[in-house]
Amino acid sequence: MKQRTIAAPVHISGVGLHSGKEVLLELFPSDSNTGIVFERSDLSDTPQIKADALLVQDTMMSSNLVQDGVRIGTVEHLLSAIAGLGIDNLLIRVSAAEIPIMDGSAAPFIELIRQAGIKWQAADKQFLQVLRAVRVTDADKWAELLPYDGYQLNFEIDFDHPAFDKRYQRASLEFSSEDFVANLSAARTFGFLHDIEKMRQHNLALGGSMENAIVIDDHKIMNMEGLRYADEFVRHKILDAVGDLSLCGYSLLAQFNAYKSGHALNNRLIRKLLSDKNNFEIVTFNDSKKAPVAYLEA
Ligand SMILES: [Zn+2]
Repeated sequence: MKQRTIAAPVHISGVGLHSGKEVLLELFPSDSNTGIVFERSDLSDTPQIKADALLVQDTMMSSNLVQDGVRIGTVEHLLSAIAGLGIDNLLIRVSAAEIPIMDGSAAPFIELIRQAGIKWQAADKQFLQVLRAVRVTDADKWAELLPYDGYQLNFEIDFDHPAFDKRYQRASLEFSSEDFVANLSAARTFGFLHDIEKMRQHNLALGGSMENAIVIDDHKIMNMEGLRYADEFVRHKILDAVGDLSLCGYSLLAQFNAYKSGHALNNRLIRKLLSDKNNFEIVTFNDSKKAPVAYLEA
């Protein structure tokens, strides 16, 4: 199984969640073994920032990368789409300090990448196979990676709120591109009205609206259209995790289990995984049929 990039440049624009301003996002094919790299086109020296778990500096509401003082925020939904389609190498040029929020899911990014087309490259695709259990906790929240022949994600949330149906707070994904695209990519982010109002007072979430999030007040979901899936909240948490975990720099072979985890704990988990070389090995597959995960051809 070989590495993948996109077949042609593509672009899209959308509003920045925090700035509320229009952001241009451009994707370009890139060479084997260069990984996922962001570039800030709005700054005079167009600095680059690698998609790397060790560069995640703050996890307030989203995953944000900072390198040499240059920041790129809200990367997780785009990274989730990239990992979901098994893209290894990509240059992401963005005209602001944040990726546009689009509809709050990964679906618009999936569409954009598939519009560009996917190209196989010469170098072998590298997988990170987890060899030992790694676990992090924060009060009652936890997240862990276990050895697994494939990539499986199991997530549980626990909101005691009338908008959250107790029956729909657990979800699982046996990862393949096809399942990711069909069952997970359209799950939107969500937020509570009182948190959004508080952020606005600090000049954050200026672009946030029911166009790009499920908004919940004290009693109910405020969006007229309701949910896209009965368990959309927890599906979105898995979508976030696919993006956050992809910052290890490889396609994962592991079982991921989490209870009430979020961007901060997901990042701590990857840092702990990478901190000890005995936790994992990097593997390739000469015969793509023998690889335990499958990616869409285009
Ligand atoms: Zn999210």
